[in-house]
Amino acid sequence: MSLEKILSKVETAKKDSGRQNDKINVIAVSKVQPIARIKKVLNEGHRLFGENRVQESLEKWPKLIDEYGKIELHLVGSLQTNKVKDAMNLFDVIHSIDREKLIVKIANEAQNLGFCPDLFIQVNTGNETQKAGVKKEEVTKLLELAKLHSLPIIGLMCLPPINELPSDHFKILNRIAKEHNLQRVSMGMSNDFEDAIKFGATDIRIGSAIFGPRE
Ligand SMILES: *Cc1c(COP(=O)(O)O)cnc(C)c1O
Repeated sequence: MSLEKILSKVETAKKDSGRQNDKINVIAVSKVQPIARIKKVLNEGHRLFGENRVQESLEKWPKLIDEYGKIELHLVGSLQTNKVKDAMNLFDVIHSIDREKLIVKIANEAQNLGFCPDLFIQVNTGNETQKAGVKKEEVTKLLELAKLHSLPIIGLMCLPPINELPSDHFKILNRIAKEHNLQRVSMGMSNDFEDAIKFGATDIRIGSAIFGPRE
């Protein structure tokens, strides 16, 4: 699908959900995609992209930013503590905060750098053992620690289990965000972004539907 088609589907989903005045950030997730496909989307005027690996992003985005100017970059994949500084320097937003150690590390780097990207806490809404994210019951604890360090947590993110109805998880994430007065909810991908919009997503992360299948 073209970017244009996706954006028009987003508009329709907003209207259908009574959210026509809400801003929804369409994050074009370009991990593993060939540069030519990324440039096509840049040439169409899109300036909001997502990646899931710090190293891969360092190899491609500084050059693209030189060429195209300001681009808003979101890290949607998990973050190792030894990559925190690189990630903070490159990304405007990090969606994958999921443990205390990471918060402490980011707080230390923020002291050194004098700035901090906006942050989402990733919630493991399906309680999957192999998946990143904090348990629902641990969100409060992590938020308190972040607050103690004055870190800008702006919302929650989730990746629903593949064999369950995504909307059940979208509802849960939206509810937890509301309980904590968090404004942003990062959920919904190529196959389910319209449902995510219906259940309150503010940031949708779309890869293959924009760029085509990943190799
Ligand atoms: C790859 C990825 C996406 C995009 O997935 P698609 O199904 O290609 O839209 C969204 N979120 C995260 C965390 C990802 O890693």
